Amino acid sequence: CGVFGVFAPGEDVARMTCFGLQALQHRGQESAGIAVGDGETVVVAKDLGLVTQVFDEAALAALPGEVAVGHVRYSTSGGSASWEAAQPHISAIDDVLIALAHNGTLVNTNAIRAQLVGEGVPFRSATDSEVAAKAIGYATRQTHHLREGIRYAMETLEGAYAMVLASPDSLYAFRDPHGIRPLCLGELPDGRGWVVSSETCGLDIVGARYARDVAPGEVVRINADGITSEQAVPAREPAACIFEYVYFARPDSIIDGQSVYQARRSMGRILAREAPVEADLVLGVPDSGVPAALGYATESGIAFTDGIVKNRYVGRTFIQPTQEMRQLGIRLKLNPLPEVIAGRRLVVIDDSIVRGNTSRKLVSMLRDAGAAEVHLRIVSPEVTWPCFYGIDTDTRDQLIAANMTLDEMNAWIGSDSLAFISLEGLREAVADVRHPGFCEACFTGDYPVAIPAAVAKRSFL
Ligand code: 5GP
Ligand code: SF4
Ligand code: MG
Repeated sequence: CGVFGVFAPGEDVARMTCFGLQALQHRGQESAGIAVGDGETVVVAKDLGLVTQVFDEAALAALPGEVAVGHVRYSTSGGSASWEAAQPHISAIDDVLIALAHNGTLVNTNAIRAQLVGEGVPFRSATDSEVAAKAIGYATRQTHHLREGIRYAMETLEGAYAMVLASPDSLYAFRDPHGIRPLCLGELPDGRGWVVSSETCGLDIVGARYARDVAPGEVVRINADGITSEQAVPAREPAACIFEYVYFARPDSIIDGQSVYQARRSMGRILAREAPVEADLVLGVPDSGVPAALGYATESGIAFTDGIVKNRYVGRTFIQPTQEMRQLGIRLKLNPLPEVIAGRRLVVIDDSIVRGNTSRKLVSMLRDAGAAEVHLRIVSPEVTWPCFYGIDTDTRDQLIAANMTLDEMNAWIGSDSLAFISLEGLREAVADVRHPGFCEACFTGDYPVAIPAAVAKRSFL
């Protein structure tokens, strides 16, 4: 998912949030929502669909305020597309409303939800994010301080969260103690206000200057009194999702000092050293494979070319809830250029192989288009463990690399050769990160936040 927040009295905060969410649309395409605080109360508008489908002029005009938070959703828990699961979630603290938007996945919400239900707290969805919103509301009611409510939630909730929260007059931003999902802070020019975004591309679009990343375990509050920060819970072992650099984030974003684009170029360069092959052309699977293909071409001396055209109007195929939709999605989305590739030996660079559908389909399309050889090179290591922290990669039995050897995968996909970057190589590609320390669980099975036994039993099939 993607989250965005702004505190800027006198500005059209709903419109700014709408722009921010459009910049973050790659992080989720199932639903979009904006909540604004106008000093008195909080109002939310949300629906299924892309940002531009949910918000038109009339919808934005109906959301005046000084503070806003927004969300684009990619369902990782709590079922797929339903209106109730769309965010931001509203929670009532007596007669005051707050709105919460969450990126990540919480792993221990079942017990907390049961406890809140026991206290008479109503729920509208089955999502972990709504549990977080209601837990903050509940604890705030007990303590009479929103910051105490947030602190209680941060002490209680386990898992990955980058969150933005709007009260009628304040913006809050906070991040789990491992800092698993990204969240950054930017300042609008001329003291007009502050912006919080999952990625820096959301700051750029509203003209905000990057200030810093929100720190693991930190709560930032912004209101008419200015900006304050508090270490609400102690930071733990840093575990920023390394997969953001591989696939999830936009290439024009900078996460914790590391340019995503430069990281992808480096991954390609390193992979060219680790897994060279004799070929005529290097091409990248759009979009995330392209910078890596440029890196591979530079390092290997093999010419880079376009060769696969992507339909811009099809969303991310992985972020489609069912296998049938994903299969159809791949066909709709990628189309090879026979005039470029016919008779040539190709090195094809992609970011990752999860179930293997994309690669298998792609290799057969390239062969149909006349490719003489197809050598697949992947700039992430083998994904052998599911992600529980916001980029759901299914149960182990779905992950091709967890169930086949390299040779078996190569045969099933139909490539002439197949190679993955090493984990050391991937780490080397993100060496500019300011606070190194990554979650690499989908490659290693070493989970920074323990997975409850029941979930593990279901997922580690
Ligand atoms: P597969 O077809 O192997 O299941 O999917 C791998 C492809 O999906 C890659 O081309 C990658 O770009 C894309 N992909 C999209 N979303 C994700 C995601 O959340 N995780 C992973 N690992 N790959 C994704
Ligand atoms: Fe990122 Fe993988 Fe960790 Fe999930 S398991 S947070 S995708 S590194
Ligand atoms: Mg892809």
